[in-house]
Amino acid sequence: MRVTLLGTGDTTGTPTVGCDCDTCETARERGLERTRFSVHVENERSGRSLLIDFSPDFRYQFLRDDVSLPDAAVITHIHFDHLDGLGNVFRVFDDLEVYAADETDPETGQSVAETVRTDYHYLDPVTVRPTTPLEPVRICGFDVTLVPVDHPPLVCYGVAIEDPETGSKLSLTGDTSYDVPDSSRAVLADPDLLLADAIVPAHLCDYHPLGGRHDGPNGVPRTFGTKHMTREGALALAEDLNAERTRLVHVAHYYPADEAFEEPLAVDGEQYGL
Ligand SMILES: [Zn+2]
Ligand SMILES: [Zn+2]
Ligand SMILES: [Zn+2]
Repeated sequence: MRVTLLGTGDTTGTPTVGCDCDTCETARERGLERTRFSVHVENERSGRSLLIDFSPDFRYQFLRDDVSLPDAAVITHIHFDHLDGLGNVFRVFDDLEVYAADETDPETGQSVAETVRTDYHYLDPVTVRPTTPLEPVRICGFDVTLVPVDHPPLVCYGVAIEDPETGSKLSLTGDTSYDVPDSSRAVLADPDLLLADAIVPAHLCDYHPLGGRHDGPNGVPRTFGTKHMTREGALALAEDLNAERTRLVHVAHYYPADEAFEEPLAVDGEQYGL
């Protein structure tokens, strides 16, 4: 399994357009980027590949990192930074299977699969595959399982991807607070690589109107506001899940410049062989 981190940023990315904060300036000086979230997972035996989330930066990411166009995609949730790159399929793909959860979201009255189908009805190459969470499906030779996470007010899903031949495993938390249900944790557990949402360091909770939640034993919040994990929360989850290796993703430019490029925060273009 070859994993390429195409997009490791939050919804504005780093550098953020029009921003001259120290973190964005440092990123420009060092030629580092965190574009909107997307991960490319290739099955090296078959050459087939799966894309997790369709970043609005899709075109740029594929030109920059020179990975193959995917045969299938998973959409974790319907926020702009994870879904709205799907329009790039137009006149580029002949066929694309898009897997998304089949549970109705009380907030929208539709499942993620239904929203994809409604919003992108004009994309003839796309076949939407409504997928039941917590039940593995075989995609590109991998066993792929969507797991409910906590990203209010919308439904959102993490993803576990296992190679049934080698036993290698990639887990993605999706956009989530630290409050990931136990049934989902069980599916995400023991990955060779965990990609965990870590939007900001916990000390920035002081600046969120809702503050932080899910304090650890040391009193440090593991959730920023209600929707995302803090750096400390993501690292705590990695420990809970017994992850062999962890990269922190969905990273915002609000990290102070002297923390923003420290390990284990990911930047775009990282590749891992599992
Ligand atoms: Zn900035
Ligand atoms: Zn989101
Ligand atoms: Zn997001």
